[in-house]
Amino acid sequence: MEDVLIVGAGLSGLSAAYYLKKAGIDAVILEARERCSGRIFTVRAEGNNTPVEMGATWFAAKHTYLMQLLHELNLPYYKQFQKGIGIFESLPSEPPQLFDIPQTEEPSYRIAGGTSVIIDTLIEYIGKEKIILASPVSIVSECGKFIEIVTSQGSKYVGKYVIITIPPFLLVAQKIEFIPGLPEPLIEVIRNTHTWMGDAVKFAIEYKRPFWRERGYSGTLLSQTGIAQEMYDHSNFEENRFALKGFLSVNASKLLKSERVALLMDQLTRLLGSEAADYLSYTEKVWEEDRYTYRKYEQFVAPHQNNGHMLYEQSFMNGKLYLAGAETSPYFGGYMDGAVYSALRAAKNIIQCINK
Ligand SMILES: Cc1cc2nc3c(=O)[nH]c(=O)nc-3n(C[C@H](O)[C@H](O)[C@H](O)COP(=O)(O)OP(=O)(O)OC[C@H]3O[C@@H](n4cnc5c(N)ncnc54)[C@H](O)[C@@H]3O)c2cc1C
Repeated sequence: MEDVLIVGAGLSGLSAAYYLKKAGIDAVILEARERCSGRIFTVRAEGNNTPVEMGATWFAAKHTYLMQLLHELNLPYYKQFQKGIGIFESLPSEPPQLFDIPQTEEPSYRIAGGTSVIIDTLIEYIGKEKIILASPVSIVSECGKFIEIVTSQGSKYVGKYVIITIPPFLLVAQKIEFIPGLPEPLIEVIRNTHTWMGDAVKFAIEYKRPFWRERGYSGTLLSQTGIAQEMYDHSNFEENRFALKGFLSVNASKLLKSERVALLMDQLTRLLGSEAADYLSYTEKVWEEDRYTYRKYEQFVAPHQNNGHMLYEQSFMNGKLYLAGAETSPYFGGYMDGAVYSALRAAKNIIQCINK
């Protein structure tokens, strides 16, 4: 019997376990994948070892819950490189426009060493042994004073309290069974809750030298015409490894990897010169292929739709079940800040109940 069971070992699940442990309460986390971190996914390409982000990357001073957690964990962060000329492609028939990025713009930050550093630090604090990987939760049932969770392999866990942190839409898309069922109005909201970046296609290209900087470019690209729609300098904190990283158009998911690379190289060599083709490594992630982040919606759901809906603030199963996760947060729903805020909210509620 556990005091608290947490479903999902992304930023939200791990933050919830962190806040509970700080209050002296142990939690066990059940995670579907063979890895922790969910939509935070820092990859080190073989042989090169530059941390490139296939998931969450940036945050700003306004993300106060995430900032507070970074300070508590003593994790350094640094400004996104923006110096130099930006490129904007508006129409295929028009030459690209060059623009200066105003230095007055609110800075975005990145975590030194890669976003996964926050995940690794939380795991170290919580204890690896508290996280059970490869355990997709399939049934959540109220059994008197407790909640029982059954995984798809049939393993059973019992807790006094449960926090579910998986993207809400996956609750219906994965057909997770709740006994008794969740209230109908909540299910309707869940069915129409957007999962931020669930269908993004990300890429990163590592280079020996920051050739774009040497030619006065910032590495920033915004395009309405090419396969790369957004791109930024992605060099590391120490500034000794260099990369460009961005988003491909959502339709790029329909192409083969070789076709994506060919189109990207056409675009980058055209805009930045032939050196763009001389790369050390190419990394990509098509998130819609990842069943523990994305499932097809039943109907159109707009970005951020129902993120932070007030029903997500309630508890269920007589005060034993709480929902957290980025999409349940009224503050920066869908983002890392929302993941941390919702974790803190759920942990505080449980701490209050236990200390009553
Ligand atoms: C491409 C991309 C770019 C992004 N960029 C940014 C950015 O720059 N800044 C920013 O703030 N945010 C960004 N985000 C959003 C950010 O990643 C999320 O807000 C945050 O990581 C969500 O954390 P979470 O714990 O709420 O959810 P998740 O990270 O989705 O974690 C949920 C966990 O639940 C697990 N799970 C799913 N189903 C089950 C089940 N049945 N049983 C058990 N476990 C299950 C999953 O495997 C996962 O580990 C980006 C996301 C993506 C995909």
